[in-house]
Amino acid sequence: MSAYRRFGGIEAGGTKFVCAVGTAMGQVLDQVRFPTTDPGETLGRAIDFFRRQPVPVASVGIGSFGPVDLNPSSLTFGQITTAPKPGWQNVDIAGRVRYELGVPTCLDTDVNAAALGEHRWGAAQGLDTFLYLTVGTGIGGGAMVEGRLLHGLVHPEMGHMRIPHDWAQDPFPGVCPHHGDCLEGLATGPAVERRWGRQGIDLPADHPAWALEARYLALGLANLIVVLSPQRIILGGGVMHQAQLFPAVRREVGALLGGYVRAPALMERIEEYIVPPDLGDRAGVLGAIALAL
Ligand code: ZN
Repeated sequence: MSAYRRFGGIEAGGTKFVCAVGTAMGQVLDQVRFPTTDPGETLGRAIDFFRRQPVPVASVGIGSFGPVDLNPSSLTFGQITTAPKPGWQNVDIAGRVRYELGVPTCLDTDVNAAALGEHRWGAAQGLDTFLYLTVGTGIGGGAMVEGRLLHGLVHPEMGHMRIPHDWAQDPFPGVCPHHGDCLEGLATGPAVERRWGRQGIDLPADHPAWALEARYLALGLANLIVVLSPQRIILGGGVMHQAQLFPAVRREVGALLGGYVRAPALMERIEEYIVPPDLGDRAGVLGAIALAL
């Protein structure tokens, strides 16, 4: 693959879009970000960005908020399906970009894209089975299983797994509109804010919010570890900027597994097992470029 070819990436989020042009080596040459408004305006801005490039992109990868239809034999393949964001239901995001730019497109979930970016250039290089979980305005998980991004029936919705909720210790009912107190309902950024009356960023590092947050995240991760046997778990997203969460989550995961899953990675090397993304907040857009490749 020529080092001179250019590839486009779109990190399509519910609140903002990030578009970038990069090389096959993951070097970003140009990038733009703008708020997500209605689909016509938002996709128009993305397409304009790529049209203005001095060298046309060979393909475009899209890591999208969802849910998205990733089944190639489905009539609504490539569309955002039942997104809660007004106006975005049944938007054919990949088809519109492909039609307007005349290049192949590749669509996946935002978290699968981020997982792919970390696999190519970041914290999951050399692994074939791992997870990327984002904890921010929502909770979502992407998975590579034995070298392939996992889609299955639709695509994983790890944020909506049910976890034990001790109502006596934490009477907060959760914020998920579908389930109330699923993992996302209890542990997403907006849940932290609603439970404590302040944004997480304004809570001190020793606030009880973080011990509870670490407990909920660890319950989710312990379930994922026994189901998928990942070789590593990467935790990204705005809430994970609270660096004190990492040692707390590792401790809780170790306690929850109770020494049953016998792997050095989960015992003496757990600080290399549950890690932040190497690509930081660029995992999403670099992952979209990796999808384009
Ligand atoms: Zn839910």
